[in-house]
Amino acid sequence: MKLVDLLERMPRSGITAVALSLCVVVGVLDGTTGSDYSLVPFYFVPVVLAAWFVGRKAGYLLSLAGALAWLLAEMVGRERYHFEFALLWNDLMELLLFLLSALVVSSLKGALERENGMARTDQLTGISNRRHYLELVTGEMRRNHRYKEPFTVAYLDIDKFKTINDAMGHAEGDKLLRQVANVIVSAIRETDTVARLGGDEFALLLPNTAEESALTVAAKVRQQLKKDVESCWPITFSMGLVTYMKSPATIDEVIGRADRLMYEVKEESKDALRYEVVGELPQ
Ligand code: GH3
Ligand code: MG
Repeated sequence: MKLVDLLERMPRSGITAVALSLCVVVGVLDGTTGSDYSLVPFYFVPVVLAAWFVGRKAGYLLSLAGALAWLLAEMVGRERYHFEFALLWNDLMELLLFLLSALVVSSLKGALERENGMARTDQLTGISNRRHYLELVTGEMRRNHRYKEPFTVAYLDIDKFKTINDAMGHAEGDKLLRQVANVIVSAIRETDTVARLGGDEFALLLPNTAEESALTVAAKVRQQLKKDVESCWPITFSMGLVTYMKSPATIDEVIGRADRLMYEVKEESKDALRYEVVGELPQ
């Protein structure tokens, strides 16, 4: 495992403790090597570590700790300081630099997290987008191979959605799509995922879910959609549901099967659910 991954998984209090310890180590080394050798860049390491992996406040805390450690280290080997004021002034300058770097690093981290969130979110509905959905399905396939956990995927497409856009306008179509997302989110568990794949097509991922639970969830979703969506707009839903006891090797096969089932429903009758179970749990 990479060091960055390890740090991402560590508890925040643990990282703060590591950063504080680093700060003490740098201070002690600085004090022992005397004022001939500058170790200033090393004071930035715990500040950056805390600001990136814990947050802005932790970055500020480490800035204060760094400035204090630097001051103490300088006082130990301070022969080149003739005035107390110079020592304090320089320490204040160090503190300012530490605080600035904590601010910049934590802002960068925040921006990166927002970007990552946006890259995985469908802007219209706020649920996962296709990219995030495929990432999560890939994770479930791996879990199935390793831990032999079954999982279920579903594809849903709104029947006659175009008529809403045409008759009531695009804004009403958008409102309907948002309502569909909200209704499905409230019908599934927190560990399940609903994503908008594009247009009027949605997908579900139900981890660790085999036949009985899959059908229960699908029935609940369909019932809620009838109650809170189909009662307000003249549309229905076609749904393809597949439980994988043993996952196929490729993601295209995994989602393609649910997609195919959904299209079979569309072509035959619409407003229905078709279900399949694939494979048996590997031994
Ligand atoms: P079918 O019953 O066969 O599913 O047909 P449909 O009328 O539901 O239409 P289809 O699924 O083939 O196409 C989806 C339409 O959704 C096409 C496009 O005009 C519309 N659409 C795609 N994205 C958006 C969006 O973000 N907002 C709105 N309002 N409409 C969208
Ligand atoms: Mg449609």
